[in-house]
Formats: sequence, structure tokens, C-alpha cells
Amino acid sequence: MSNLEQTLSIIKPDAVERNLENEIKEIFKNKSFSILREKKIQIEKSEAEKFYKVHATKPFYNDLCTYLSSGPIIVMVLEKDNAVIANRELMGATNPNDADEGTIRKKYGISIDKNSVHGSDSVENAKIEIDFFFKD
Ligand code: UDP
Ligand code: MG
Repeated sequence: MSNLEQTLSIIKPDAVERNLENEIKEIFKNKSFSILREKKIQIEKSEAEKFYKVHATKPFYNDLCTYLSSGPIIVMVLEKDNAVIANRELMGATNPNDADEGTIRKKYGISIDKNSVHGSDSVENAKIEIDFFFKD
């Protein structure tokens, strides 16, 4: 049975800065994700703080929000069967050192903080995150 889902993907500043936008989009397309919406934006630190508010108590929160707002990002709505888990698998582990071969973070991630991509971690959060960037 098919289970079409949408998830939010972000190409983070470290990857945009290295001009990896098109390469990373090709990886998604080759894995049969449809890119339904996309935009290149730079967000304010206050918006990054809202986006990552689940991490507000973490020691890395301030640096994370500074980083996400430090340069242009590409935000995308990806669609495919079981898109949320499929994207998490394709991204790989949060720390690129722990990510499996063939994942985006293994290939492009620099460090746990500069790990090139974001992906929603649940269907519920995907809806919230898509709304956050594409509410219109
Ligand atoms: N992060 C960090 N240090 C840590 C853990 C996470 O800088 O020790 C950053 C990292 O960029 C990660 C983001 O915070 O992508 C959100 O953390 P989360 O645990 O949600 O990881 P993700 O869902 O992105 O794999
Ligand atoms: Mg997360």
C-alpha cells in the first residue's frame, strides 16, 4: 500500500556555501523524491530560534541558531512514499562521522554542527515545519 508523505528538507549554510545545492537536489530526485516547493532564503536568528525551539535547553542551541541564520539556505518540501523516514535514511546520522556510506551527511557533512542538511523527524513535525516556511 502506498503512503505518500511530505517532509521538510533544508540544505544548510555549509552546503550552500560550497555550491552543493544542485548536487544534493539531484540525489533527492534520483531517489524518487519530488521537490514540490523550494526557496532560497536567509533567516534571522530569531526565526532559527523558533524553528529549533525543541532544542532550546540544549547546550548547542545558541550556536545552532547562529549557524542556521549565518548564510543562505534552501528549504524544500519533498514528497514520496514514506518521505519522512526515507529522507532521514538518505541524510544519515546527525554526526557525519557516524553516518553510513552513501548518505548525504557522510558525503558532504563537515562536523556534527555543519552537517549539510536538515530533515523532519516525524510526520507531525514535518507538517509543522512545512507550515513554518511555506505558510500561504
Ligand atoms: N547539533 C549540534 N550538536 C549536537 C547535536 C546537534 O550542533 O551535539 C546540531 C546539528 O546541526 C543537528 C541539529 O543540531 O543537525 C539538530 O539536532 P538533532 O538532534 O535534531 O539532529 P538531526 O535531526 O538534525 O539529525
Ligand atoms: Mg532533528
